[in-house]
Amino acid sequence: MLIVGAGIIGLSHAFHAVRRGLKVTVIDRDRRAVGASVRNFGHCCITAQSGELLELAQAGRPFWLEASSQAGFFASTAGALAVARSERELAVLSELSAARPLGQLELLSREQVATQLSGYAGADIIGGALLRDDLRVDPRQVVAALADWLAEQGVRFEWQTSFHFAQDGLAHTSRGSFVAAQIIVCVGHDVDRLYPEIAATEQINRCGLQMARVAAPRDLRLGPAVLSGTSMLRYPGFAETTAAAGLRAEIAAHDAEALAVDANIMFTQRPDGSLIVGDSHRLAETMDPFLAESVSELLLDRVAALLGVAQLTVLERWQGIYASSPLQPYLVSTVAPGVTLVSVTSGVGMTISFGLAQRVLAQLDLV
Ligand SMILES: Cc1cc2nc3c(=O)[nH]c(=O)nc-3n(C[C@H](O)[C@H](O)[C@H](O)COP(=O)(O)OP(=O)(O)OC[C@H]3O[C@@H](n4cnc5c(N)ncnc54)[C@H](O)[C@@H]3O)c2cc1C
Repeated sequence: MLIVGAGIIGLSHAFHAVRRGLKVTVIDRDRRAVGASVRNFGHCCITAQSGELLELAQAGRPFWLEASSQAGFFASTAGALAVARSERELAVLSELSAARPLGQLELLSREQVATQLSGYAGADIIGGALLRDDLRVDPRQVVAALADWLAEQGVRFEWQTSFHFAQDGLAHTSRGSFVAAQIIVCVGHDVDRLYPEIAATEQINRCGLQMARVAAPRDLRLGPAVLSGTSMLRYPGFAETTAAAGLRAEIAAHDAEALAVDANIMFTQRPDGSLIVGDSHRLAETMDPFLAESVSELLLDRVAALLGVAQLTVLERWQGIYASSPLQPYLVSTVAPGVTLVSVTSGVGMTISFGLAQRVLAQLDLV
């Protein structure tokens, strides 16, 4: 099996292929993976998915934990904390909690939320919920550690090798041809570079997100990833509740600026203590490289308010890009005999990677 792309989607396919005893080669055009898989929050947002995405997310969860223990990368099972600052936000959390198995979403008082936030709870927080099944990993560490471990299992990695096209069981690249019975193409948001017709038919666009890493306020130690009201408008488990429509109107009235940049105000803590803070969303076929400082300031301001601190010290800023389609959250397409294109076309690639890869391999005719 030849896998194109050493991001989390390519490597989760390599992980399952190795478990099946296949001989695997991974190629990537870069010296190391620096795409969406290292630029995200490291949040496996499992509990707030719904339908098929929830199934894929839950199916992938044990493999994330297995990969973490085998490859030795950090993974936290502390879940996610959804913070509520209004009765409407609490209503969304209560509705989803009631619809789910007991304990999957545990409703919390303001005091319990404050404890989860090491006491750093903004004055307007009135409660929240703990999303039990969510996981958290360190995005700076995961794909590098997974690639190293896969190499130890016998997976061959060819870096700085660009895939061009596949024909008759041969993958043509910038470093010659590779023979493979199965080729899985996992190039993230660059589907249009290789398969422009598919990108056009599936309406695959690029989604750009502004992110920052900030110093944590003193003694802040977070178990869970932290989500806010804007997150409740995005993740389908929340967004499909009847209470969510009222919440959208409320946020539009109180924080139209956040909605204007399609913000998902959230943060996670890295093992070194620093916080990954984000994010905004903008769509384009070719992403404008210039980042508006006003957007960064808005995101930092809202996170500071959640934590009840005056300001946050920025250590780094970056833009992440993922593939986005209004038609479906992920794409699996047989582009030629023995060639499968896999791209997660929404912001859940970390969450569903291992579940999706397991399903893709189960559907292939593997010998
Ligand atoms: C800022 C941000 C925050 C996010 N937050 C979350 C989150 O909290 N939870 C979540 O579940 N998801 C999140 N996502 C989404 C998630 O990160 C992506 O869906 C996922 O990382 C996509 O993985 P990938 O392997 O497809 O792409 P990538 O990680 O981009 O990897 C693609 C790889 O393909 C290689 N490549 C491309 N073209 C070629 C070629 N022709 N030949 C060889 N190699 C090639 C690239 O070099 C790259 O290494 C976020 C994304 C961003 C950008």
